[in-house]
Amino acid sequence: MDNSSEMILRVAGLQSLIDLLRAQAWVVVGPTVRDGAIVHAPIESVDQLPRGIGDLQDGGSYRLRQRGDEALFGYSVGPQGWKSLLFPSRELLWSGQRDGADVAVEPAVVDPPRLALLGVRSCDLHAIAIHDRVLTERAVPDAAYAARRDNIFVVAVTCSDPGGTCFCVSMGTGPVPDRGFDLALTELLDPAGHRFLVVPGTARGAQVLDELRALAADEAAMPADEPDRLAARDVGAQAALRMGRALDVDGIRDLLYANTEHPQWEDVASRCLACTNCTLVCPTCFCTSVDDVGDLTGSTTERWRVWDSCFNTDFSYLHGGSVRSSVSSRYRQWATHKLASWVDQFGTSGCVGCGRCITWCPAAIDITAEVAAIRSRED
Ligand code: SF4
Ligand code: SF4
Repeated sequence: MDNSSEMILRVAGLQSLIDLLRAQAWVVVGPTVRDGAIVHAPIESVDQLPRGIGDLQDGGSYRLRQRGDEALFGYSVGPQGWKSLLFPSRELLWSGQRDGADVAVEPAVVDPPRLALLGVRSCDLHAIAIHDRVLTERAVPDAAYAARRDNIFVVAVTCSDPGGTCFCVSMGTGPVPDRGFDLALTELLDPAGHRFLVVPGTARGAQVLDELRALAADEAAMPADEPDRLAARDVGAQAALRMGRALDVDGIRDLLYANTEHPQWEDVASRCLACTNCTLVCPTCFCTSVDDVGDLTGSTTERWRVWDSCFNTDFSYLHGGSVRSSVSSRYRQWATHKLASWVDQFGTSGCVGCGRCITWCPAAIDITAEVAAIRSRED
């Protein structure tokens, strides 16, 4: 796309964008504050965005803070990826009804809502791309995921204030959105005023911007100029310098394969609670199991797919026992899959450096520190 399609929106222009998307029958889902965290929820107004709210994140720790400005996207990623919208934690696969001696089985009907995702960070765009590969580009595509995926409009935002556990720069996945969006915003808060540089990433996004140009008041939406573009570039460049964590990925696949018996796995197991938090908050983890639910009369049954975790003993249960009965083997499986065998399976790392597994681990276990410990004491 050439520069001429880029726009500057004031806050009123951002509201016009939300109004336009809603008028086009998109349900706009964006960041909002709930229960002391920034979560995703349907929104209708910029007033529902976390104005002036930032966050403080560290291993096992997440706090909101007042930024002292008017930023609407001045926080880092919260506990939720977008996984729960595209790949729900619990999903009906089919239901069965007994009719005399026969059982009639009906596949679940998938009727995905039209969702416009507002405020998607670059790490999460890469996580969605990983799920696309895992869930739709294999021999048996996940039809429900594909249907939901086809029904989203993505408004990304450049990270301006990375969290204390972020390391997307190490993983090459941020902080500036580079793919997978219809529109990308960069929030600018400088002497020229509070505004957003908007860049289209698809023809569909460019079409929305054209319509917005015609609709929004002149002072709310205007052409972008070179100083705006330079300011936006600086936001991304400054954010890249402020990552809370770093992961040395040089040779990481071979490092982990060569250290399956490293004593660090036992060390981490002495701290790990096997609570599964890290896998539930991870935007790329996709392991599931199924629950069969019958009614008391035995006339109906349902099969539900539910998120599972490699930290659960039962997840690797095979004919009489768990293949990974120790916590050390389960943590090793998780970290080695993310950072090594995922590459062999899917062609990329399974980690996008969002830092959620560090922030939301009750034991403050940090994948970057565990790998660094293995690297520093290689067997
Ligand atoms: S690493 Fe942390 S979040 Fe993950 S299972 Fe262990 S204690 Fe839970
Ligand atoms: S492993 Fe941790 S840092 Fe990497 S994508 Fe998953 S939650 Fe984010």
